[in-house]
Amino acid sequence: MTIKERYVGVINYFKTNVPVAETELHYNNPYELIVAVILSAQCTDVRINKVTPKLFKDYPNAEALAAASPDTIFNYIRSVSYPNNKAKHLVGMANMLIHDFNGIVPSEIDQLVKLPGVGRKTANVVASVVYKKPAMAVDTHVFRVSNRIGLTNAKTPLQSEMQLIKHIPNEHVATAHHWLILHGRYTCLARSPKCEICPLTEWCQYFKTNVLNKNKSQSLLEKKENMAKKQIITKKASSKKVSSKPLTEKLTKPSVKKITSDKKIDTKSITKTKVTEKTTKFVAHQTKLKIGDKAPAFKAKDQHGKVISSADFKGKNIVLYFYPKDNTPGCTMEACSLRDEHNYFTKQNYVVIGVSADDEKMHKKFADKFELPFSLLADTDMKIIKDYDVWGTKQFLGKIYDGIIRTTFIINEKAIIKHVITEVKTKEHAQQIKGLK
Ligand code: SF4
Repeated sequence: MTIKERYVGVINYFKTNVPVAETELHYNNPYELIVAVILSAQCTDVRINKVTPKLFKDYPNAEALAAASPDTIFNYIRSVSYPNNKAKHLVGMANMLIHDFNGIVPSEIDQLVKLPGVGRKTANVVASVVYKKPAMAVDTHVFRVSNRIGLTNAKTPLQSEMQLIKHIPNEHVATAHHWLILHGRYTCLARSPKCEICPLTEWCQYFKTNVLNKNKSQSLLEKKENMAKKQIITKKASSKKVSSKPLTEKLTKPSVKKITSDKKIDTKSITKTKVTEKTTKFVAHQTKLKIGDKAPAFKAKDQHGKVISSADFKGKNIVLYFYPKDNTPGCTMEACSLRDEHNYFTKQNYVVIGVSADDEKMHKKFADKFELPFSLLADTDMKIIKDYDVWGTKQFLGKIYDGIIRTTFIINEKAIIKHVITEVKTKEHAQQIKGLK
């Protein structure tokens, strides 16, 4: 794959599936954004959003902030990382804005970086978010994700910035910054990237080298080990009748040389293993509930803390969909597809309800972020998930693990299951449901 093809694939994926990607920091004007971005260094956006409302209320502009003392500001931001330095930077930045820039946040990178507390990354965020410039801010997520995918081969954030800017079309640079950040924050995690649910595997170098090839060589290794074990057992079995050596010796003695040198038997074993694999092909768990069954009653809190019960929907049809995890790419596509057709479902006397094991807080964040107009039930004790039999073993990229099996139940107004969808097409799930007869 060429670097160009990799960029095209990744950008097209994000363009289609994450058309809106914005900073998660809360701000209303350039002054608030630059303050929030300075505070966000080495800290989470969630934490910053907790401290800025009061700070902005009491210091609504650069003039007010410039007149404050760092000690006073420290009290507002004591819960963020490095509050001492950041308090000094904020007051210094506000003073420079007043004295050198007429109180206006500049738009040029070389001017922005003159402000105390403003490095190249912060300057790029301000230039791209406020002034819509094709500036690429490289933080730890952007740096890591770009290198892993193979969009960059960079040793420093500046190299990463230059390489990304070179390949990403100007009109997508600012958004690409958020795409990569969000992907790093929720999927391509620093310690353990969630490759098993990642939609970018097709283009990702890390995936090919560290997951795909590793899986291949692991299964080859497992096959070899199995063959070796088989050989030991076969040899022991055949020598049992003639040998008079004690069993313990026989078990500890077999030499690696003997096993690995017998290539003829290896080949046969491989063939045998292949045949066995074919006949024992993995089958993922599927719900035992079927069309015509009475739908199990359900009750749980939704993202607003409201108790939602199946009894509330007498006389209504229900789209009850089970999904693995909030905010992951597949689940987001599925939710957005149902969101976009929500009016249609309402007109057809349907209620849409999502269920996962995430808690109310996670649901709220997910629903708010993607403006989901329906309830997401927080089935944290997994009662509904188990009642609907959608928890079980599944396989992804050779990995077998237990989890929620993505399944949708269409329930009629008499609480009878009319359809069970086990092959969910996340991106066009609403259309999939609409196409049912
Ligand atoms: S496949 Fe894995 S390493 Fe590659 S981008 Fe996705 S999560 Fe990250």
